[in-house]
Amino acid sequence: MPTIPSPISSGSLAIVTHPLVQHKLTLLRDRNTPKKVFKELVEEIAMLMAYEATATIALEPVSVETPLEPTTGQRVAGKKLTLVPILRAGLGMVEGIHRLVPSARVGHIGLYRDHRTLEPVDYYFKVPADAVERDFLLLDPMLATGGSAVAAITALKKAGALRIRFLCLVAAPVGVVRVHGVHRDVPIICAALDRELNPQGYILPGLGDAGDRLFGTR
Ligand code: URA
Repeated sequence: MPTIPSPISSGSLAIVTHPLVQHKLTLLRDRNTPKKVFKELVEEIAMLMAYEATATIALEPVSVETPLEPTTGQRVAGKKLTLVPILRAGLGMVEGIHRLVPSARVGHIGLYRDHRTLEPVDYYFKVPADAVERDFLLLDPMLATGGSAVAAITALKKAGALRIRFLCLVAAPVGVVRVHGVHRDVPIICAALDRELNPQGYILPGLGDAGDRLFGTR
C-alpha cells in the first residue's frame, strides 16, 4: 500500500483498497448491522489496515535454531509501536491491531469540545514515557472536521513523538486538509475518502456515529 502525496492536501494519504477491507467497510456502513457485528468489523478492518500500514517497517536478521539446524530469520527492527486511540471511538480499533502486534504499547487521548471556543481540549493524556523512541499509530474511526486529530497529534508531538501515522476508517476531505494544514508530516491512512460533512459534522455517506454504534449508546 503506497503512501502517496494526497491529491487534496499537502501531506500523504493512503486509501486501503484491499477487497476485504472494502467489503467489510460496506457492511459497517449498513444501518442494519447490529452492534456486536459492527464492533467485530471495526476490529477486523483495523487489523487489516494495520497489516498494510506496517508493510514497510524495517527488519533485521536474527539467529534462530530450528529443531534441525541453526538458521537466520528476520525480526522487526528498532522502534517500538505504540497505539493511541482517541477516546472513545478509537478504542474500537485497538483490539484488532493488538492481536496483530501483541508487543505494542497502548496510550490514550481523551478530548472534549470547549463550548466557548469550540476547540478540542485534552482531558486525558497518557502515553509511554519514551515517546521519542517510538512509532505511533493514532486511531480514530472517523476523520471528520479534523479538530480532534489535530489536537491529538499536537499533544503527541508535545510529549516528544516524532513519528506518527493517523489511522482512520472513513475520512472527510475537509478533515484531511485540516490535519495536513497543521501536521503535514503525519501520513493519513484510511479505508475510504467520503464526500463531505453534513451541517452536524457527520461524514456523508459515512457510517453514522461510530462511538454510539460501537458502544450501543444511540
Ligand atoms: N464522528 C462519527 O462518529 N461519525 C461521523 O460521521 C463524524 C464524526
